[in-house]
Amino acid sequence: MKPPPFDYVAPTDLDEALAALADAGEDARVLAGGQSLIPMLNFRLAAPVKLIDLNRVSELSGIERRPDGGLVLGAMTRHRQLERDATIAEYAPLLAEAAPWIAHAPIRTRGTIGGSIAHADPAAELPALLLLLGASVRVARAARDGEAPGRVERTLPLDDFCFGPFFTALEADEVITRIDIPPCGPLEGTAFEEFARRRGDYAIAGAASRMILDEDGTCLHAAVSLINAGPAPALVAGVEEPLVGRPPTEDRLAEAADVASAGCDPAPDMHGSEAYRRHLVRVLVLRTLARAARRAAAGRTPGIETEDG
Ligand SMILES: Cc1cc2nc3c(=O)[nH]c(=O)nc-3n(C[C@H](O)[C@H](O)[C@H](O)COP(=O)(O)OP(=O)(O)OC[C@H]3O[C@@H](n4cnc5c(N)ncnc54)[C@H](O)[C@@H]3O)c2cc1C
Repeated sequence: MKPPPFDYVAPTDLDEALAALADAGEDARVLAGGQSLIPMLNFRLAAPVKLIDLNRVSELSGIERRPDGGLVLGAMTRHRQLERDATIAEYAPLLAEAAPWIAHAPIRTRGTIGGSIAHADPAAELPALLLLLGASVRVARAARDGEAPGRVERTLPLDDFCFGPFFTALEADEVITRIDIPPCGPLEGTAFEEFARRRGDYAIAGAASRMILDEDGTCLHAAVSLINAGPAPALVAGVEEPLVGRPPTEDRLAEAADVASAGCDPAPDMHGSEAYRRHLVRVLVLRTLARAARRAAAGRTPGIETEDG
């Protein structure tokens, strides 16, 4: 299939890109890695009159460490960079652990973090992982009629950004410019696991867990985020109840996994029934919570283990 005809511009400057988007109106789209948008054009699921290519806007690229120890990821950061960057491996090891599971290598070299969040596929890994890490999304647009000229920006926590399948808080004239990830603590552990029919396929289900312990091994914080187990990424309510204020024993981890399995909202399809998906969620949550707890206890974050531990 070939895409419908469209105009194409490739600005080198963000303000130029924002102006082009504002001028073109609701029927324009920005193009990032193109790994979701181009198939949508080819299948005629989208027919924008204009594509504004962000690939030459250098301001949108880069991974930086903030003075407080958090990270700033440019919206055009590729999935492959998350997999290979030393700063990510050290200060956001959850992203480094999960990135190799996103699609296949050629797709990861093009696909971007901003594109993944804007596309808001409930089966995508990055929105769920960034939600677990407490990330926020910075968006920008050109000033509208009646506003002072210049760039208008706003920052939204990720849980106020992805509302439903392929549905976000992004307005038609807005572009995601960066993602901010808060710093992680010394006794914090994270872990990711997913199950797919073949390596590189979208996950049938996935889970990411995060745990913070105190010096005595008492759980201060526990959270779980699921992939492809509901209409939009969301932290699973109630998983912290058996864990927070106590050491994360096997029984308590199992109780939290039961809560996640009962509380998720998986849709049955040809790859598995609802019951099968709930079972997968239980297994994946139990494994990732246990690994996050071991990593937190070992004071291994920042840094990812080389062996399963
Ligand atoms: C075969 C295949 C397998 C895949 N498997 C997986 C998988 O397992 N897991 C997974 O998560 N993804 C998977 N993907 C999707 C891939 O990760 C995409 O790269 C990603 O979803 C979109 O990123 P992109 O940069 O390619 O965005 P594009 O395709 O360029 O854009 C997607 C949408 O986001 C908008 N957009 C892009 N950037 C911005 C921005 N900065 N601001 C505002 N709007 C923006 C575009 O206008 C468009 O509407 C797969 C894709 C393919 C083709």
